[in-house]
Amino acid sequence: MEEQGAYGLRKRRRAQRYVSHSIFNTYAINCHNTRQTNKLIVLLRPYLTKWHSGRESSEDNSLDTLLAAAQNAQNIVVFSGSGLSASSGMSTFSTKGGLYEKAQKLHKLTDGKQLFTYQFFDRRRSEATAFFADIWKEAQHAKPAPGHTAIASLASHGKLRRHYTLNIDGLSSAVGMDTWHHETNPDGTTVEMHGNIHHLVCAECFTTKPVDRSIAEQLGQMQPIPCPVCPLENKKKKEEEQEQEDQRREQEEDRDNHQEPMNNDNNSSSSTNNMMRFKVMLYEDAESDCITPDEVLDLLEEDVQAADLILWVGISFEQSASTAYFRRVRHTLAEAGKLDSVPQAVINPSEDALWNILTSMSNLSTLRVIEVLAPSDEVLPALINIGSKEQTKE
Ligand SMILES: [Zn+2]
Repeated sequence: MEEQGAYGLRKRRRAQRYVSHSIFNTYAINCHNTRQTNKLIVLLRPYLTKWHSGRESSEDNSLDTLLAAAQNAQNIVVFSGSGLSASSGMSTFSTKGGLYEKAQKLHKLTDGKQLFTYQFFDRRRSEATAFFADIWKEAQHAKPAPGHTAIASLASHGKLRRHYTLNIDGLSSAVGMDTWHHETNPDGTTVEMHGNIHHLVCAECFTTKPVDRSIAEQLGQMQPIPCPVCPLENKKKKEEEQEQEDQRREQEEDRDNHQEPMNNDNNSSSSTNNMMRFKVMLYEDAESDCITPDEVLDLLEEDVQAADLILWVGISFEQSASTAYFRRVRHTLAEAGKLDSVPQAVINPSEDALWNILTSMSNLSTLRVIEVLAPSDEVLPALINIGSKEQTKE
């Protein structure tokens, strides 16, 4: 069993963590504690027979199953979330005394997640932007995790179809993976579904601008950065409007008490529209098209149709966006008639990830998931060992 060797001696020691259950054609549910088991039993009563029978085969075969699937895979599609960057040094919501906690206190928010809502951004633009400038500063010290390197290796071994990341840290490009863009780089390997903290974008004209230290300082001091393109276009437009306005005013002067135009802006909305924002997707983002173009969904469909293995790495599935991606992938696989032939693996040290998927779904009857309860830093490099072994054999 070469695959087992590839994972080394640690595997036996860690076997308990991979305790698995039903793998294919049944439910990969890990129930270590009774309370959760009871919850699951209630929820899954209609499927209990299947689930129970699956559980009979409960040794550490979920990692083996994944390794076997990866060995033969040529078109792996990876979806990654914050767990992939867990060891990279970036704050998360669970980091005690981290950036998010500090900002939540500073802005007196009941829930830290409000920092990432469009509503907060729209109402308190400079404060929200200063918070993102702090994230940018933290990202300067972040180091790619072993999982990032492993995904880049999958790409260089020709086994990766695409990497879709929900992370905004830009760490995939730090390991040499190029970022997809529908116009400028349609063959890019990483799709940043929720943007990238290293860029500003203009929501009006979609012009982007890399963030540097002086920009971050400026934004940190709540001074907005104007779009380098829009003001020029608007200037011409304003001059034309001004001429028309002057003519009209001359005619109406005797009746109306008009206001003098402001020096910079005719109205308040144009002054905010022309300021750049961080290229980071927010909850309920009213400007989401400047972060992720619609073309992403076509690409996703093509990639999933071509996939022979789908990995969900370090995603907690606590957010509706990630469960929506999961459902979309399932739907695409089902339409392509590949729901039974394309394995999907959920790689996460917490069993809550799969639990969150299960509770977000209405139809569980065809769910096939390999659940690997371990950090991506350990699992993804194991996939590479398999991949390179296969290469040297050839
Ligand atoms: Zn612009």
